[in-house]
This record gives sequence, C-alpha cells and structure tokens, in this order.
Amino acid sequence: MIESPLLEKLTGYIGGRWTDNAHGNTFDVYNPATGKVIAQAASMTEDEVKAAVAAGKSALRLTTPYSIETRRKWLEDIRDALKANKEEVGRILCMEHGKPLQEAQGEVDYAAGFFDYCSKHIQALDAHTIPEKPKDCTWTVHYRPIGVAGLITPWNFPIGMIAKKLSAALAAGCPSVIKPASETPLTMIALFSLMDKHTDMPDGMVNLVMGKASVIGKVLCESPDVPMLSFTGSTEVGRKLILDTAEQVKKLALELGGNAPFIVFDDADLDAAADNLIANKFRGGGQTCVCANRIFVHEKVADVFGQKLAERVNRMTVGDGINGDVDLGPLINQAGFDKVKRHLEDALEKGAGLVAGKKPEDLGDNLFFPPTVITDVDRDMCCYREETFGPLVPMALFRTEEEVIDAGNDTEFGLASYVFTGDAARAQRVAAGLRFGHCGWNTGTGPTPEAPFGGMKASGIGREGGLEGLFEFVEAQTVPRGF
Ligand code: NAP
Repeated sequence: MIESPLLEKLTGYIGGRWTDNAHGNTFDVYNPATGKVIAQAASMTEDEVKAAVAAGKSALRLTTPYSIETRRKWLEDIRDALKANKEEVGRILCMEHGKPLQEAQGEVDYAAGFFDYCSKHIQALDAHTIPEKPKDCTWTVHYRPIGVAGLITPWNFPIGMIAKKLSAALAAGCPSVIKPASETPLTMIALFSLMDKHTDMPDGMVNLVMGKASVIGKVLCESPDVPMLSFTGSTEVGRKLILDTAEQVKKLALELGGNAPFIVFDDADLDAAADNLIANKFRGGGQTCVCANRIFVHEKVADVFGQKLAERVNRMTVGDGINGDVDLGPLINQAGFDKVKRHLEDALEKGAGLVAGKKPEDLGDNLFFPPTVITDVDRDMCCYREETFGPLVPMALFRTEEEVIDAGNDTEFGLASYVFTGDAARAQRVAAGLRFGHCGWNTGTGPTPEAPFGGMKASGIGREGGLEGLFEFVEAQTVPRGF
C-alpha cells in the first residue's frame, strides 16, 4: 500500500472537511507497473454528492463577491504548495498512473503553471466600462461567476487536467465539485491535502467526490445548482453529458478525444521531426489526447524517416516509472493494453509492415507495451480511424499537400495536429487548412498555460489556458446606467 503524508485520508472532501465514509464503500487503486492494489479510496453515495453540491452553493458569493486580491491569493497559494511538494505529488502520480517519475514531477510543474498564469492575469476579469455611450447610457461589463461548477477529469494527466479547470474556476470565484478518474484518485487527494493545509479558501469552495461515475454524473447533470460542467475525457462520455444536460441548458466546457495527424514533408529537417515525434508520441506512454496518432510521411522520405524512427525507438527503455531511468512506463490497464494490441494486429493483418517493436504474439502478459513503428497504414485500419492511446506509431504515405490536408481532416476529431516543413508559406496553408485547435509547425509540443487549447469538431467545446481559458467560468453581465 502507498504511504504518504499527503494521503492520510482517502475519503471525499466536502464543505472544508474530509468525509467519514461511514458506509464503508471503497474502490481499489492499482499501480499499473506492478498490478498491485496500492490504496482503497472512498466511493461516495448520491447523498454525499448532493451534499458536495450544497456545500459549493453555500460558498458562492454573488452580491458580495470574493475580491480579485482574495482569489489571486488562493491561486498563488495553490501554485506555491504544488511547487513545494512537487516530488511527493509526482511520486504519487507515478505510482497510480505509471508514467516515468521525472515526467510525473514535470506534470506537477505544468499544473502549477496554470495557477500561476491565472494569478497573473486575473485582473482581466475585473469589470470595465466601455468607451462609447450608446443610447445615452454608461455601459459596464461585469464578469460574474457562473456558479457551482462540476469538474470531471481523466486519468492521463491526474494533476494537469484539474489544474486547467480549477485555476480558471477559482479565478472566476466559482466553487467546484471535483470528480477524478477512478484509476487516479490519489493525486487529486494529494492536491486536496495541500489545499486544506496551505490555503484559506472558504468551506465549500472546493469539494472532492470519488467513485461511481454514473452516480456522480447523474447528480451533476441533474442538479439545478450546478449550472456548468467542465469535462475532460472521451468523446463518448462528452456526448452523453451533452444529452444529459440538454434539458437544463447547462454550460459545457468539453475537452474530448483526438486523432492527431503528424505530417512530415520531404523538405523537413527529418532528424528534428523524428526527435519531436518521439517526444510527442511516447509522452505518458502514448496516452495523451495530443499524441500523434497518424503519421503522414511524404513518400520520397518515408523509408529514411522510418529508419530514423526505428533507431530512436530501439534505444528506448520500458519499465516501472518509479525507477527514474525509463522512457516508457506501463499502459494504464488491461483494456488500454488490449486496444493497442488490437490496433497492431488489425494493421498487420491488413498489410502494414512492422518497422520496430514486437509482433502481437510476442507481447508479454503485463501492461508494458514496447514502442512500435509500423508503415503502409491506410484509412481502413483501426489505428488510422480510432484514437490508439498507446505507443504505436503508424506511418501512412502521401504525395501532395492537398491530399495530406484532406487526409489529416479525415476524422471526426480536431484537437492537435503537427506539420514539419521548411517552407513557411506551405506551413501557413496547411495549418489554416487543418481543422484542429492546435497545429504545431516544426514542433511536437502540446499545450501550455499561457495559450488557449481546445478542440474543433468532436474534440470539444471551449478552451483551457490563456485568456480564453480564464473566461470559461464567468458570464458577462452588462449593466447600462441611464442616469
Ligand atoms: P473517460 O472514460 O471519458 O473518463 C473521463 C472521466 O469521466 C473520468 O473521471 C470518468 O470516471 C468520468 N465519467 C465516465 N462516465 C461518466 C458519466 N456518465 N458522467 C460523468 N462522468 C463520467 O475518459 P478517460 O478514459 O479517463 O480519458 C481518456 C480520454 O480523454 C481520451 O479520449 C483522451 O483523448 C481524452 N482527453 C482529452 C483531453 C483534451 O484536452 N481534449 C485531455 C486528456 C484526455 P471513471 O474514471 O470513474 O469512469
């Protein structure tokens, strides 16, 4: 079992205190590297989730709002607590997620960056009076907190994803009811321990609920006291939330699945493209929404690029992330492993060639999937159509710019995309043509706290990060003054 000063309680947190879990329902949390149970966290009842919403409602202040200075202090305190406890939070994250320790600790820094950014830009949420005086009135625009927000996060960035949402919610003055993924509740508990000890937020401002998604989701979707849900996860669940909140017309911020094209033209710096692809693709074991999912390589350079990838992949080490010196940890669970294996089997059966990695029949019976490169992939293969969420690099060949823009857009998703070319004009054309919220030009980097990030098409609604993200949890209210 995991021991940590940040995990003294493994229960929910409602109205400023840890719940007692009197009914005793729990769920197991596993270390995917060892397959062992490392903790049992409280699974909450419908009544407890309703209590969390009520606590949030009691912390909401409309007529006497929390000042900008007060909110800024909350954000700074959380940022500082995360930075001071980066090693321990990262260790917990590594043990329940499996990503390499250094990467896990880097995610804590990334999370702190969102609280930092919001603290530095919160002034943008102050009211302002517009310079014109239409209709003989003075017009003031206020940014009101939307109310209690339900924040639902996935397992692939246990601290990064909540940081994006919570920083903007607190900046707006919105209380929240937070549900982590059932695979990774411990990092969230650690965050709540830090907030409990190191901030003086009012009781009910942040509430933690864990356990069955169906129970928690139902309360959050049905409660009239929760006017907004901010969700990161699969498009499938995102669609369900749209349906389940339609009756009440709730505001939704949705960060959903991806199917990122990574395009390499024949005039690209191939070594830089290969290095960027490796860094992008194998982060989090290939389990990020911005991981390249379809690698389009110009046919003239396909063989040489494939060899460059193979050289790099063959040098990578796979193992328990806690050991610190591995490049790739395990996949999150058996279902995740089986999906990557199915994609590999399907592609090889349909004619793809194995460039690096193991054949499906040679894979072990643990959750460690070796980095794998395949070529001659086409649109009939599962790895082209679906988000693989694992360390499989499928290369497809192309000839022309128009063809590859069409191929890149040949998906319902529109989250991240990447183009590698030495031709600036071409890069501008391709980025404009790709219907993706993020398009890296000669970089495989993903989001950053300072810039807006989010999806087009079925990849979501809204933005996180940047000034756009800061405004997600407020509603503009316009007050024209007549005399
Ligand atoms: P998921 O299965 O959709 O789960 C995400 C969260 O939603 C979990 O906390 C889950 O709880 C909860 N949930 C499931 N059903 C629910 C319901 N009916 N009502 C309310 N909550 C519900 O996704 P995942 O497998 O954890 O994450 C992987 C997906 O997230 C991928 O598709 C990835 O692309 C996407 N993602 C997108 C972004 C982005 O920025 N766009 C970032 C990261 C990940 P349980 O764990 O208890 O089931």
